[in-house]
Amino acid sequence: MDDLQYGKRNKRGDWQPNDAIGIAPLFVFPPQPLKFIKWLPGYIFPWNVLFLALAAIFWFYLTPDVETLKTLAPGWIAYLFVRNSLLVIFLYGLLELRLYIRRGQGAHFKYNAKWPSEQPSDAFMFRSQNIDNIVRTFASGVPIWTAYEVFGLWSYANGWGLWGTFAEHPYWFAFLILVLPIYHEFHFYCIHRLIHTPLLYKWVHSVHHNSVNPSPWSSLSMHPVEHLLYFSDSLIHLIVPSHPLLFLYNLQITGTGAVVGHIGFDKIEVGSQSAFDTHAYAHYLHHKHFEVNYADGTTALDKLFGTWHDGTAEAEARFQARYQEKVARMNSK
Ligand SMILES: [Zn+2]
Ligand SMILES: [Zn+2]
Repeated sequence: MDDLQYGKRNKRGDWQPNDAIGIAPLFVFPPQPLKFIKWLPGYIFPWNVLFLALAAIFWFYLTPDVETLKTLAPGWIAYLFVRNSLLVIFLYGLLELRLYIRRGQGAHFKYNAKWPSEQPSDAFMFRSQNIDNIVRTFASGVPIWTAYEVFGLWSYANGWGLWGTFAEHPYWFAFLILVLPIYHEFHFYCIHRLIHTPLLYKWVHSVHHNSVNPSPWSSLSMHPVEHLLYFSDSLIHLIVPSHPLLFLYNLQITGTGAVVGHIGFDKIEVGSQSAFDTHAYAHYLHHKHFEVNYADGTTALDKLFGTWHDGTAEAEARFQARYQEKVARMNSK
């Protein structure tokens, strides 16, 4: 595919889309029903439908029965950890293999012209972004994800919470399926603003930002405190009527779904003539500029608080000016 039909490349070779990234037409007044209908398919496909399908497969085929879940035991906890790890290895590994190791589409639609493997840095263990990212993913990312999952399933098996069936709450559960990704983004925006405060940034969140040029393995490369906060959105299922399948769907959106913002490519080519959108640009800009796009534009919170960078030259100029002002302020102190 000719990526220059969809965007442009600067002197350094970095590619960027022609179109501004849109804010979801959800929290707008007056309502925009036509825009909403146009926006909906991209919200559902491919990612959220994939996460729902994975949650269903996990719940129906790859989760121990309720009797087993009633009692905490190392066997089934280790099983969940291995099952989650294998999914991450498969999905992140597949993207890494296709886009970064075999470079199956070269630099088509690639935001940053450089490849992380060619940028060794002292910020990383063994000076390697990939090694550092992978160690953090499996040493604390997947274990903390699994710990939340164990807690939720154990609570369900013992009847702690407002757990119900699809027959009891058909409308509410359908509503949850639609809004959980938005809720996740809202929660992420809040904890993300929190860990950008100076002390927490220095001690916690800077670990994630070491990957200035993120690739799939950067997705869950975080400090354990950030993992604890990041996965805590799943606790909502203990206080609202829910079902374990929806709880696992939430964990998929949060865990597996972290990869969406860290693909590093705007589109993934399928064959020679087609491609699907990754929706990764908003978060790529966050890794590049740090103080923009604390969320991905589904909730409009960045717009509300003046931190929305839509990828256009005007936004770039505005944030550059803001950054220069900040530097001048710091120098004058
Ligand atoms: Zn990130
Ligand atoms: Zn950040």
